[in-house]
Amino acid sequence: MVLCSCNCDCGLYTTRQGENTGRQFYRCTRYKSLDGCNFFMWVDDAYHSSGDIKYQLFAMKERINRKFRRNELLLKMCIIVIIIQFMLFLFKM
Ligand SMILES: [Zn+2]
Repeated sequence: MVLCSCNCDCGLYTTRQGENTGRQFYRCTRYKSLDGCNFFMWVDDAYHSSGDIKYQLFAMKERINRKFRRNELLLKMCIIVIIIQFMLFLFKM
């Protein structure tokens, strides 16, 4: 089982055209929707040891990026709430 950056199971697909016909690859099952990611990896790369480490690093980096973006949004919302409360406090004076 391969997990992609958005933590969903990757779908296993087979190339149907071009120079890689018949080669299998993993791709995010939700890659077409907005909540999916653009994770893509050849199956033979996935079972190659260095490919596996590369994939783990790639997935880890993506996960950290996503968490960071979410935290940034939360922080901005907190600041806005604090500013609103501060303004309400000023108007009451
Ligand atoms: Zn994904």
